[in-house]
Parts: sequence; structure tokens; C-alpha cells
Amino acid sequence: MVEIFPENWAVLHLGLIFCLTLAQLLVVYVLSDHHNPPMGLGLFTVYFMAALLGWIAFTLQQGTIAPMTLDVPAVAAMINSYLLFLAAGQRANKHVGRIVLGGCCLAGCLSVFFLNPKAMYVVYSALSGFFFAAAGLLCAYRAYSKHNVGDGIIAGAAVLMVASVPIAFYQLFTSDNLQLARVITFGAYTWSFVLLAIGFLTSVLIEYQQHLSHLAVEDPLTGLLNRRGMEDALRVSMARANRENAQTSAMMIDIDHFKNVNDSFGHETGDNVIREVAAILERMSRASDVVARVGGEEFMLILPDTDASAARLVAERICRTLGERPLRVDQQSIPVTVSIGVACSRGETSLDELCQEADRAMYLAKRGGRNRVASVESRPVHLSNSAGVS
Ligand code: GH3
Ligand code: MG
Ligand code: MG
Repeated sequence: MVEIFPENWAVLHLGLIFCLTLAQLLVVYVLSDHHNPPMGLGLFTVYFMAALLGWIAFTLQQGTIAPMTLDVPAVAAMINSYLLFLAAGQRANKHVGRIVLGGCCLAGCLSVFFLNPKAMYVVYSALSGFFFAAAGLLCAYRAYSKHNVGDGIIAGAAVLMVASVPIAFYQLFTSDNLQLARVITFGAYTWSFVLLAIGFLTSVLIEYQQHLSHLAVEDPLTGLLNRRGMEDALRVSMARANRENAQTSAMMIDIDHFKNVNDSFGHETGDNVIREVAAILERMSRASDVVARVGGEEFMLILPDTDASAARLVAERICRTLGERPLRVDQQSIPVTVSIGVACSRGETSLDELCQEADRAMYLAKRGGRNRVASVESRPVHLSNSAGVS
């Protein structure tokens, strides 16, 4: 059998790290939206690339190809760990401690010119452990706040690296075995790097999946629910209305002559007007109501446990609030009015039918002159001018 020498192991290691890094970065870049890349992608790429350079330096040092007088791998390990801290901070959108830790990294790197190998080892593994601990805390925070297990895996990788430091120091100070201490640190560094690569890939994939499921239920322009999201949100309250024979009201709200807004102020300002109207509708509805954007300039507001007259009052308030003064959008005053159709049902209700009734009522409001509320209550149609304005 052919013997595999230690330096060959280092080359095998490098190959493994190289393939893993490139494969995961390829997947991440293919999935990335160029206009809105994953947070921290740039610095994580720099970190992974720098780690590869560190491994090349280490492999060269292990072989006899180019014996080094300076401890380049130690410097590379410190810079890499600091880069990981920066990348984790960028991903978690927390930028505390960059300058202080950067100063520590610089001092650690410069000490390579003054310290003997043992002291240099102590400095670089302590500093790397410290940077990993800081990066781990940032990733743990992100894993908790974003419900992303990928960031949790990165935090786990940091724990592994941090835990290896006292074990390696124990070997160094009790048995004076610098070689063994180095092997422990290098092993922990490699394992945590592999975990990091998997964790980063997982984190980006989970984020992508979360983004897709948001898109399925959320309107990207306003952040309101879309029609499907509205149906999901109402499932429980519709079932309760059915059980308790409660009333449910619906409002279809359509911005009047919106084409003119686009023509006069531009499409982008038109988008901002839609956003502003959405924000006003959200502000004016209760926590139990559901507001959704169901068309270009059309919104649906569902009010569980609300009868027709209460819904009409809310509709008239919305109509009056929007119509009484122009909206301030993009430093311009833009007069905006809406036509609202109100419908109400009791007990078992088909959301589709309720929305269709509200839609029919809204067209009656349009035909009646716009900037008003109309309702359909058990067929006889009541038209009303919302605030005496038409
Ligand atoms: P009406 O009072 O009868 O509702 O008139 P309107 O002009 O509001 O209605 P119409 O259906 O004729 O035109 C709707 C306009 O809304 C046309 C379209 O360009 C615009 N629109 C639809 N979606 C968007 C959007 O997302 N952003 C912008 N800026 N405009 C949109
Ligand atoms: Mg309209
Ligand atoms: Mg419309």
C-alpha cells in the first residue's frame, strides 16, 4: 500500500476545502438576486477566498517547497477570523466593535515580526478564538431574530473553534507540546470552516425559501397581503363567524382616476401614492381587520364581527380622510379620492362571494360620481354620498 505522508494530507485537505468553498459559493451566486443580494454576501465571499489563500500558505509551509521564515498561516488565520467577524456583522446588520477588533487584528499581525513561535501561537489562537466568539454571537442573534437555522450552524462552528482554544492551551502549557496544540487548532479551524460553509449555504437557502413564501402571500409594493394571503389570514375568523352566526363585512376600495395620477406625476410617484394609501388604510383599520391589495389600485378590507352599518361608518371615515386634503408624496401635493363598496354577510360566508358583492357596490359608487361609499345589503342597493362631496 502506498503511504500517505503528512504533507499529502495537507494537500488533500486543501482540495476538500477548495471544492466545498467553490461549490457552495457557486450555488449562492446562482440563487442570488443581483439587485438585492443576500446580506453579507460580499464579505463572506472575501472570507472564504482569504481562507483558501490561508490554506495554500499552510500547505506550502507543510511541504518543503518554500520554507517560510515568517509565520504566514498565523497571520492568515487572524485576518480570516477578523473577516468572518466583519461578514457576520454585515449579515446581522450590526457594526459594533469593527474598529477596536480591527486594531487588535493589526497588532496581532504585526507581532509576527517580534514574537517567538510559541508566543505567536498563543497570540494568534487567542485572537482568532476571540474573533470567532464575536462572529458566533452575531450569528446566534441573527439565527434567533430571523428564525434561520443556517446562522445557527455558523454560530455552532464558532463555538467549536472557541472551545478548541483552552484545550490547545492546556496541551501547550501542561505538556509544552506546541506541535499537538497546533494540530488541535488547525483541526478545529478546518472543521469549523466546513460547518461555516454549510451554515452559510443553508442560511442563504432558507432566506430564499422565506422570500418565496412571502411573495406567495404578500404584495411586494405595499407589504400588504395579496388575495391569497388575505384568504389564509381569514380562514380562522370565517370559521368562527360560521360557528357563531356572526356578521362579516367587506370593503372594496378603488382609487379614483388613478390613470390621471400616473399621467400627471409619473409611474414612480403613482407607486408611492399606492403605498401611501395602503399605509393610511392600515392605520385606519383595527388589528382584527385584514387589509389586502387585490389589484393595481384596488384594496380589500375585511372586517370580522362587524355589521353593515358599522362597516359603512368606517368606509365613510376612510373616504373623508383621503378626500379632505391632498396627499404629500415625493414633495408634491396629489389630490386622491377613493370609491368604496361595502358588503356584509352573516354566518356561513364565501369570501369570494362577499368580495364580489363589495366589488359590485364599488362600481355603484363609481357610477354615482366617485369619492363615495355604496353598499349592497341583502340586495336592495343603498347609495350614499360619503361626505357630501362628489
Ligand atoms: P376609475 O376611477 O374608474 O377607477 O379610474 P382609474 O384610472 O383609477 O382606473 P383604470 O382601471 O382605468 O386604471 C387603473 C390605472 O392604475 C391604470 C394603471 O396604469 C394603474 N396602475 C395599476 N397598477 C399600478 C401600479 O402598481 N403602479 C402604478 N403606478 N400604476 C398602476
Ligand atoms: Mg381606479
Ligand atoms: Mg381599478
